[in-house]
Amino acid sequence: MANEVYRFRFGAFDCWSVSDGEGEFGAEKYFANAPPEALRARLDRYNIQGDYVPTPLNCLLIRVGRRYALVDTGMGPRPGGNTGRLLTNLESIGVSRREVKAVICSHAHGDHMGNALDQNGEPTFPEARYYLSVAEWAYWVSKSSNASIRERLQSLSTALTLFDHDTLILPGIRAIAAPGHTPGQTALLIESGDERLLYTADIVAHPIHLEEPSWHIAADVDPVLALQSRRTLLLEAARNRWRLFVYHFPFPGLFRLLYTSEGFTLMPG
Ligand SMILES: [Zn+2]
Repeated sequence: MANEVYRFRFGAFDCWSVSDGEGEFGAEKYFANAPPEALRARLDRYNIQGDYVPTPLNCLLIRVGRRYALVDTGMGPRPGGNTGRLLTNLESIGVSRREVKAVICSHAHGDHMGNALDQNGEPTFPEARYYLSVAEWAYWVSKSSNASIRERLQSLSTALTLFDHDTLILPGIRAIAAPGHTPGQTALLIESGDERLLYTADIVAHPIHLEEPSWHIAADVDPVLALQSRRTLLLEAARNRWRLFVYHFPFPGLFRLLYTSEGFTLMPG
């Protein structure tokens, strides 16, 4: 398969963008509060003809010494869909499931944890610790009524390590609070020498969110807080010239961001 794995160097880290394929969501899921006419005009400019928005799923693989850390696990196989390609794509670069020793989960939504468990409900990466924020665990296990997410997290519980935000999950990989989309969503600031890469999780899900930063995602648990996290982190990334790795942006998901009086401009990074 073409264009499903992309290798890049980031400071001392060897990294890969590894696709789980491409899903799709209705435009109303991406841009819940967008005025219909303005939305149609934006979609036209991206050559999106119908109401479904192609949804890339870019997972980030990082080699830390002789181990691999995987950030998010894709959507997993869906009937009739072109998703669930993560494991095949990992194999294509010679990385077995057992060699992945850390799986960092930005948040608990199914399109980010779709390959976390295998068909038997066992951890797909049997030798990995799975990392999730304390706040994310607490919300889905104790507060939300979403049974499928709760069950998934409970199935993973013996493999899970819960972390607090603003701590290092692994050397050079810092957990940054990005609440709103989900209460415990985590962005990552990956640090090597003077270089910084921000793994954005779902503070943005489509480049249109940079043009219309007030259009929120339907799944945002707290839209007001989600927009606040979006603005704060994107402005910080632009000001500090951090590279961005964006899970749902076009493969391989690597960008840089400029901020001027015109707003945000996205550039390949
Ligand atoms: Zn997502």
